[in-house]
Amino acid sequence: MTERNAYQKERLRMVETQLRARGLRDDRVLEAMARVPRHLFIPIMERPYAYEDRALPIGEGQTISQPFMVAIMTELLDLGPADKVLEIGTGSGYQAAVLSLLSREVHTVERVPELYERTTTVLRDAGYENVVTYLSDGTLGLPEEAPFDAILITAAAPDIPVPILEQLDDGGRLVAPVGSRYGQTLIRIHRKGDLYDKSYSTPCVFVPLIGRHGFSPDSA
Ligand code: SAH
Repeated sequence: MTERNAYQKERLRMVETQLRARGLRDDRVLEAMARVPRHLFIPIMERPYAYEDRALPIGEGQTISQPFMVAIMTELLDLGPADKVLEIGTGSGYQAAVLSLLSREVHTVERVPELYERTTTVLRDAGYENVVTYLSDGTLGLPEEAPFDAILITAAAPDIPVPILEQLDDGGRLVAPVGSRYGQTLIRIHRKGDLYDKSYSTPCVFVPLIGRHGFSPDSA
């Protein structure tokens, strides 16, 4: 079996045992998870574990999220093919790649220069042409590209940063892990005009969102 086929087999097993078996039912999300080569987004040393049921280190003290968490966040965003998406916390670029298969374009913001540079190259080489990467403090959102149909924050926030909330279009969905540095709950906000409907999903643990409207860097 070629290496590529071996990874593909592991990936399909991941979709069945980690996602479908746990109740994820959105076929478009499952299909995207079956397509994106997760191993390409992580350091070579970690590749043997690429399709395991856990988060993995990607350098700079950061992590790529567990496949189940990526899938559930994507499902909660309820994406359509015309949607314009904002992601805060590019990290490995894996989540952005998954989102890009289900939307028109993805704008993703990272604060760590080494990750921004590495990930921009990985995404380009892998052919994800509708993903645009940015190096900045994502707690400010991306005002020059707003509004967005969907916004995903993939780092733990003490609260949803107000500038980000303001960049959500009418009818838009926002998903973020909100809580303390050590434990959060995934929340979903659905904007309907001036109303922001809030619902709670699963408990989770993310690395902190650090920035003007996030946690402070010194206690990181
Ligand atoms: N979505 C990523 C996982 C990200 S881990 C993936 O698929 O791999 C969280 C990321 O958020 C880290 O890379 C961290 O550096 C970044 N981050 C933290 N605070 C940020 C901020 N204010 N703006 C942008 N990125 C931030």
